[in-house]
Amino acid sequence: MATFGNLSDRLADTFKNLRTKGKLSAADVDGTVREIRRALLDADVALDVVKEFTATVRERALGDEVNKALNPAQQVVQIVNEELVRILGGQQRRLEFAKRPPTVIMLAGLQGAGKTTLAGKLARWLAKDGHTPVLVAADLQRPNAVNQLQIVGGQAGVPVFAPEPGNGVGNPVKVAKDGVAWAVQKQHDVVIVDTAGRLGVDAEMMKQAADIRRAIDPDEVLFVIDAMIGQDAVATAKAFQEGVDFTGVVLTKLDGDARGGAALSVASVTGRPIVFASTGESLGDFEPFHPDRMASRILD
Ligand code: GDP
Repeated sequence: MATFGNLSDRLADTFKNLRTKGKLSAADVDGTVREIRRALLDADVALDVVKEFTATVRERALGDEVNKALNPAQQVVQIVNEELVRILGGQQRRLEFAKRPPTVIMLAGLQGAGKTTLAGKLARWLAKDGHTPVLVAADLQRPNAVNQLQIVGGQAGVPVFAPEPGNGVGNPVKVAKDGVAWAVQKQHDVVIVDTAGRLGVDAEMMKQAADIRRAIDPDEVLFVIDAMIGQDAVATAKAFQEGVDFTGVVLTKLDGDARGGAALSVASVTGRPIVFASTGESLGDFEPFHPDRMASRILD
C-alpha cells in the first residue's frame, strides 16, 4: 500500500539487520525498538500510540517468547505484527445492519475527506451484495455536493434522494429525515446519508452533524478520514467523536503516497474500529478493512 511504503521500507531494514543476529541481547532489542519508534514517528503515527506500542513490543521482546524462540528475530517480527493488528483494532469489524430495515448509515467528516465518493462506493458494494441502498444528499453546504452525489448515485446505479428546490433547501436535518422516511416508504433496506463537512473542525458544522444524528438515529455513523491528513488526524477524530460519537472509521486515500501513519492512530486513540478502506477515485476502489491484512502489508 503506497501510503505506508516508507514505513514498510524502514521496518524491513530494521528487521533485516535483526536477522543477522542469533540470540538477541537486551541492547539488540532496545536498538530495534528505537528504530521502530523512529520509523513510526516519521510516518506520523501519534506519539501516545507510538509510546504504548513500543513499550509493549519491548516488554514482549525481552521476555521468554523471544529468548526461547528458535528464531528470535522472526519472533520479534511476529510480535510487531500482532501489536500492529491490535492498534488497528484487532478483529475485523463488519458493518452492522439493523434488525428491522432500513439500516441507516450516516457519513461525517471534513470537506474533501472523500464522503461523497464513499457514499457511492458503499452503495455499489451493498447493491452487489443484494441490498437495495439509497443515498440521501444532506450536504447542502457545498454548492455542487448534491449534484456530485447524484452523479455517484448514477454510477453506482442507486437512487438518490435530494431536496426539491424550495422544499427543505437549506435545511439538511429536514432533508436527512425526509430521505430516511422516503427510503422506509419505498422499502429500501439501507439508507446512506451524506452530510456536510468544512475544511477544518467547525462548531456550526459539528452542531449540524449532531442535529442530523439526533433526528435520524442512525445504526452506524461512519467517520470518513483522509489517510493523508497527517498529524491533524488525532485532533480531528477526537473532535468528531465528541461531536457525533461515530461508531466506525473509514480511511480514504490509502493509495496516496503521504506518510499515512496518523490514520493508523485513529482506531487506537478513539477506540472505534476501522470498518472500510478507500483506495482510489473510482467506485471499485473500496474494501472492508482487515486489521491483519493491513499489518501484513505494512510488514511485507
Ligand atoms: P467530501 O467533500 O468528503 O464529500 O469528499 P469527496 O468525495 O468530494 O472527495 C474529495 C476528492 O477526493 C475527490 O476528488 C475524490 O475523487 C477524491 N477521493 C475520494 N476518495 C479517494 C481515494 O480513496 N483515493 C484518492 N486518490 N482520491 C479519493
